[in-house]
Amino acid sequence: MMKENHKVLLTASQLTALRQLIGEEKVLTSEEEKVVYSYDASKRKYPPSAIVLPRSRDDIVKVMRFAYEENIPVYPRGSGSGMSGGSLPVYGGIALVFTQMNKIIEIDEVNQSATVEPGVVLSELQHAAGRLNLFYPPDPASAEFASIGGTLAECAGGLRCVKYGVTRDYVLWLEVVRMGGEVLQFGSDAVKSVSGYDILRLLVGSEGTLAVFSKIKVRLLPRPETAYTLLATFSDEITALGAGIELLKNAFVPSALEFIDSLSLQCAYDYSHDQRIKDVRGVLLIEFDGKRAQVEHDCSEAREFLSRRAGALNVEIATDRQSIEALWQIRRYLSPALFQLGPTKYNEDIAVPRSELVATFKAIKELADRHKLTIAVFGHCGDGNLHVNFMFDENNKDEKARVEQAIPELFQMVIQRRGTISGEHGIGIMKLPYLSLEYGEAELRIMREIKSIWDPKNLLNPGKIFPSDNFRTPPTTQ
Ligand SMILES: Cc1cc2nc3c(=O)[nH]c(=O)nc-3n(C[C@H](O)[C@H](O)[C@H](O)COP(=O)(O)OP(=O)(O)OC[C@H]3O[C@@H](n4cnc5c(N)ncnc54)[C@H](O)[C@@H]3O)c2cc1C
Repeated sequence: MMKENHKVLLTASQLTALRQLIGEEKVLTSEEEKVVYSYDASKRKYPPSAIVLPRSRDDIVKVMRFAYEENIPVYPRGSGSGMSGGSLPVYGGIALVFTQMNKIIEIDEVNQSATVEPGVVLSELQHAAGRLNLFYPPDPASAEFASIGGTLAECAGGLRCVKYGVTRDYVLWLEVVRMGGEVLQFGSDAVKSVSGYDILRLLVGSEGTLAVFSKIKVRLLPRPETAYTLLATFSDEITALGAGIELLKNAFVPSALEFIDSLSLQCAYDYSHDQRIKDVRGVLLIEFDGKRAQVEHDCSEAREFLSRRAGALNVEIATDRQSIEALWQIRRYLSPALFQLGPTKYNEDIAVPRSELVATFKAIKELADRHKLTIAVFGHCGDGNLHVNFMFDENNKDEKARVEQAIPELFQMVIQRRGTISGEHGIGIMKLPYLSLEYGEAELRIMREIKSIWDPKNLLNPGKIFPSDNFRTPPTTQ
């Protein structure tokens, strides 16, 4: 093994051995291919020394054994859509990419479950389940391209968590491969299991740092008969947020409850000229799903409630596919539209208890004023999970310095309000410097000890969640 600065490079003989081990066509090493696998949605860039595309569990076992013996770091990667840099090969080594392991092995209608390989794209599982009148609820906005393995490793959230919970709530069992090649399985086919420690829960959300997922079994639900969407507009942001909280307090059970602030709406309007959001200062996008009669009833009750008791200016209900799509399009405009505010975006995904949501939002706006920054906020109001978008120009050193000063202040404020620095994107490299704001030394020690049991040589995804012990230069973070 050679090292160049902090990077682990594979020697020519190691590459030859790797190719012989699992087949020439599964190992990529051209400079172009290294560029392709060097970044994710965090937009940081760290090229791997080699890319391996396993096609079976046996391929994974061989690579994990080889890398362990040769002291080469391995970086699991699904579709590379992670926001926290979780898949990036910060110390070089092998990018282990699961896109070729993309089979839906079985959908079991009696037990309402699906067995899949880790590289299956989430929307493909959703569609396959839907064709059998079944439903896989986890639905991050990246469902069209994120892999199921990646969504488990990040415990992805998304729009439907307010009613259905997060990815973790749908995993029945996991087959995993440790560094060194040992194959283990945790969880059960039974919907209930309290045998031994809940290692399954530990593995989901472990950001590819404990073991690699080689086979996954998830729980499915019966598919809701229909889903309608409501757009509620408000004259100010606080009334909009308060209305969302009141809706839940008054026993409504929406399957999505999204909030958009005034600045984001202004950008979306300038981008789209959608008249529904002209001069609007706060929005809730709400979905109800279930049996048609129940959904119709819920929507009309919610409209009544929002208009008469929660201060909505207008409530529009969409019931057919085209008008539903048109309402959700407002949410989708946000990503491109926000770049009118600045060429660089740092998207923080803090979460707080619902009761702290209004105070947290006010504090974010106060933070923006104090540091003279532009911060646009939208997110999963029902989960207390807000996307706090710092829009700026990273070439402006002074502005960048103010953003970097404001981010830890944001996290400290959120933690004081009993919240968390990441509701769904994970720690990866982007939030690595801040985890110690949320957890004390004793808690972090337990996490490190868990890591060292699973991966004693710290070769699986080193430099993520915690600084690395055995590689020299820490990864660059925001
Ligand atoms: C436009 C956009 C919208 C998004 N919306 C949401 C959203 O609504 N909610 C949300 O939660 N996230 C969202 N994300 C973030 C991202 O899509 C999710 O984190 C997703 O779970 C990542 O899946 P991936 O396959 O791209 O994983 P990658 O980015 O490839 O990897 C993510 C992590 O998973 C690990 N990993 C991947 N495969 C495996 C495996 N087989 N075994 C073990 N570890 C593995 C990697 O090492 C890494 O730590 C969004 C991203 C984008 C770009």
